[in-house]
Amino acid sequence: MTTVAQSSPMEVARHWRRRRNIGGFVLITEPHVVPLLRSNIWMVSGRDRDLVIDAGLGLVPLRPYLPTDADRPVTLVATHAHRDHVGAAHEFLDLCAHRLEAQAIEEATDDIPLDVSMWPDELLAGFERKGYQCRCGTLSALPFSGFSAVDEHLKPARVSQLVDEGDIIDLGDQCFEVLHLPGHSPGSIGLFQRSTGAFFSGDVIYDGPLLDDIEGADRGAYCRTMERLLSLPVRSVFPGHGPAFGRSRLLEIARHYLRTWERLR
Ligand SMILES: [Zn+2]
Ligand SMILES: [Zn+2]
Repeated sequence: MTTVAQSSPMEVARHWRRRRNIGGFVLITEPHVVPLLRSNIWMVSGRDRDLVIDAGLGLVPLRPYLPTDADRPVTLVATHAHRDHVGAAHEFLDLCAHRLEAQAIEEATDDIPLDVSMWPDELLAGFERKGYQCRCGTLSALPFSGFSAVDEHLKPARVSQLVDEGDIIDLGDQCFEVLHLPGHSPGSIGLFQRSTGAFFSGDVIYDGPLLDDIEGADRGAYCRTMERLLSLPVRSVFPGHGPAFGRSRLLEIARHYLRTWERLR
């Protein structure tokens, strides 16, 4: 167990989530969550169905917050099974994930406590070495009055459809190709829209410290994934954490990773 900083009682957030339009897509974030666990929720409105990519921490219901059309079905694609991406996954009847992540989603195994005093010190120190500060807690405000981080657990969700490399998510007027991109986790997937070069990358690549030494991560596989990204005709990256970025930044991040782990290639 570890020592965490004492702070004054936390206030309830006036607005738990924030919604913006980025590059023609909707981005929903949870600004009162520390960057380590503050994942991006992306939404694409299609002619026949809406697509949601990842579901955030899920401390308050997500579905009512989504600007979806009541007449259109909604598909959630979970890029992987980590808690910060599947917290609200149980709210979706149509839930797609890779077979190597499905069991963890259905059994809610990535139930990392939101109360950092329950984290082993080596876990906290490992995240700090990467540049993630969590010692003061995982939240800077409460999602609702009476919320208790200690009592909060990840809920199991039923994966209705397994997806794998080459599968197509068809919204009627636009398509997304599933790419299997292991490294951060065994069944991490990205969604690539070939017609526009838009790439929803999950935690495979974002502009921040990448997590490649956590349980289930594999640096050799990560190197192969980065090599693959170099040759993919991506124009814009809509990542699982942090801001969207363009092709040149993707190339910089991928090349830097490959230089760092040259010996594993
Ligand atoms: Zn994440
Ligand atoms: Zn992750």
